[in-house]
Amino acid sequence: MVKQSIQIFARVKPTKKTTSVYCVDNEEPAGSLLEFLVPKDLADGFINNKKESYKFRFQEVFDQTVKQEDIFEAIAKPVADSVLSGYNGTIFAYGQTGSGKTFTITGGAERYSDRGIIPRTLSYLYQHFSQDSSMVYTTHISYLEIYNEVGYDLLDPRHEASRLEDLPKVTIMEDPDQNIHLRNLSLQQSANEEEALNLLFLGDTNRMIAETPMNQASTRSHCIFTMHVCGREPGSVTVRRSKLHLVDLAGSERVGKTGVCGQLLTEAKYINLSLHYLEQVIIALSEKNRLHIPYRNSMMTSVLRDSLGGNCMTTMIATVSVDKRNVDESISTCRFAQRVALIRNEALLNEEMDPALLIVRLKREIQSLKEELSMVTGEKREDQLSQEEIHKMEELVKVFLDDPDCEVTLALGPDMRKINYCFSLLKVMIRERLSIGDGRGDHPSPPPPLVVPDQKDIPQLQPADLTKLREMLTQRDNEISILVSILKKEKRRANDAAAQLANISNGRPLDPQSPLRLFTASLAGETETVENDHGVPPTLYGERASKLSMGKQEAFEIFKRDHEDRLTIEDNKALLKQRFSEAKAYGEEVNEARNGVNKLKKQLELHRMQRAAHGVTVSPAEVEEVDPVEESIRRQMDEEKKSYKSTFGHLKTLKMEIEHLQLLLERSKMKLQRDFQDWWSQEAARLQVQESEGMARGQSSIRTNQSSESSSSSHPMTRDLSSTELSKSFIPLTGDQQTDADILGFIRARHNLLNRTGPPQP
Ligand code: ADP
Ligand code: MG
Repeated sequence: MVKQSIQIFARVKPTKKTTSVYCVDNEEPAGSLLEFLVPKDLADGFINNKKESYKFRFQEVFDQTVKQEDIFEAIAKPVADSVLSGYNGTIFAYGQTGSGKTFTITGGAERYSDRGIIPRTLSYLYQHFSQDSSMVYTTHISYLEIYNEVGYDLLDPRHEASRLEDLPKVTIMEDPDQNIHLRNLSLQQSANEEEALNLLFLGDTNRMIAETPMNQASTRSHCIFTMHVCGREPGSVTVRRSKLHLVDLAGSERVGKTGVCGQLLTEAKYINLSLHYLEQVIIALSEKNRLHIPYRNSMMTSVLRDSLGGNCMTTMIATVSVDKRNVDESISTCRFAQRVALIRNEALLNEEMDPALLIVRLKREIQSLKEELSMVTGEKREDQLSQEEIHKMEELVKVFLDDPDCEVTLALGPDMRKINYCFSLLKVMIRERLSIGDGRGDHPSPPPPLVVPDQKDIPQLQPADLTKLREMLTQRDNEISILVSILKKEKRRANDAAAQLANISNGRPLDPQSPLRLFTASLAGETETVENDHGVPPTLYGERASKLSMGKQEAFEIFKRDHEDRLTIEDNKALLKQRFSEAKAYGEEVNEARNGVNKLKKQLELHRMQRAAHGVTVSPAEVEEVDPVEESIRRQMDEEKKSYKSTFGHLKTLKMEIEHLQLLLERSKMKLQRDFQDWWSQEAARLQVQESEGMARGQSSIRTNQSSESSSSSHPMTRDLSSTELSKSFIPLTGDQQTDADILGFIRARHNLLNRTGPPQP
């Protein structure tokens, strides 16, 4: 559990005028000070130059020039970090209308650098998810707007709302444990940053479309963007669930001052009522020994109950405007913050067991406890060991005895019948082996050790090594033979093709530099006579080595050409290319639609401002009537939003298809490579058989002609080598399955060796 007071920060909105009504002191050791200097009342008629000072202490005060990035680093990052560790977190902005709450929480629409806390936090969290391979995360997002004590789901996909009242209404339910549940609030899964940003954008657009001059929802409603994070270690039964609320509260200005009437007054009263209840809750929480906290008085305090005086790490940002006419409100915002700072929260690590996984684990535990119990109580089992079990144990004991590793154990489980049987089996086997060692047994004696060849310069080479090397050599020679035979075959094929081409072109030879010509020439081996760049003809061995190193690759190309999956792979490749260009086009469309919506939003904002200014000079009734311009902009926005939504949907489906296609291609490629490797090793095995048959025949002739011995081997690549040469040409192998690089490396090393020992006699 982490006990922590609600952290309070202040942010001063930039103003064009220079002002002397406030100052910031960030040098204080225990936080920062924000001071307001207000001229004393002139009520008594005297000219009075004295100023009254109001000082407020915050964790930190961010003055006008502070960037969004720094706000994120200082305020949101620590909260995001605690959400990642499994604690709940809340950040809420409080302040009068126009003081920068929305700018701070969501951000400005114009510049990328104006992104607020929500997009930056999303980016930070998703980046963490993708980097942390030790956990599996799932995330869901909800976006709730509370206006006049009614909740609206800003993300409900079923509704194409054009008025606030058309949005699905969210209601609060309380379970017997007094946990709050929100009915009708959709939780949208978002797999990545892009999807989450899309949800934020759609929610904000819905909010804007639903707003009318009658219900200036953006200033009079509360908005709660919530990210639900669930993290689990693979294989673990515990899951961590944490919530992050990012809250943009309604404007905190008082009714008396705004001086509105009629419907506007009802609404204004409501906002204030809602914030008034928030204040009551905060006062109750900040007073010691208060038993009842009036959370249930309003929807907003119910929803944020955990964030206020509960299981949550909470941070408040007081946004203040320092224009002279706003100082009163700014001071009351700061006063509110001081009270909030007195609240202490107790954040708990939200870890819980996953029931399904827990059952599996408990079942396993019960089984092992049962076994342990039967062992301890000595309870005997009636059933005899089955024939199959006996056979299995014989195998186990044999493996156990043959394993040179002293640490190896016999895994029998807690079964005394098996343990006893294995002990008697061991006894029998050991006695048997001892009698063999005595020479008393009738088993054949072990084969005599291999003689180490008399080579002074390789004292370290053991007989086993030598055998291994010989085997390797045979294997490599086989590989070389396969390559040679493939090359021969292909050469023939290429010759035929070249002849055919020559016929087709009516006897006219192909351009010597044409790709086709070069390709057929390379296949027909004509390039052997072509000089290299330096005008030096390649040596016989150099040529052979380089041809062979290309050989396997070439063999692979040919194999690929004839493979049954080739057409599928090519089709998929073409489809993928097509889908890529489609996705690009959709991406551009999405961006266009998004820009369109943003432009309309700006237009609407501007229009509303003009109307508000106009409202000062005309009667309120005139302002309240339906405005055709506003209606038209909202309709256009609705259209643009729909087009954005559908295009984004297409893009998402397309993305999934592309990923699927990429996977298919990857799989076909792997299959092709595996098939090739299989074929390659089959060929090798076949050659080995042929060779050993040939050797058997050849050895009898060597025996009859002792004088022509080792140097008489006819082919440089199959000529036997002395152990010295072998030890020098040894390349450590990585495993049974040799990679191409290994094989080619070996061929080169061998070629070098042969080169040193001189070309073979023809
Ligand atoms: P609120 O949500 O509190 O009513 P807004 O966030 O909508 O206020 O801010 C009102 C206007 O002031 C907006 O046009 C916004 O872009 C601008 N604004 C607010 N804070 C800042 C800031 N720190 N830097 C630049 N512009 C700001
Ligand atoms: Mg706002």
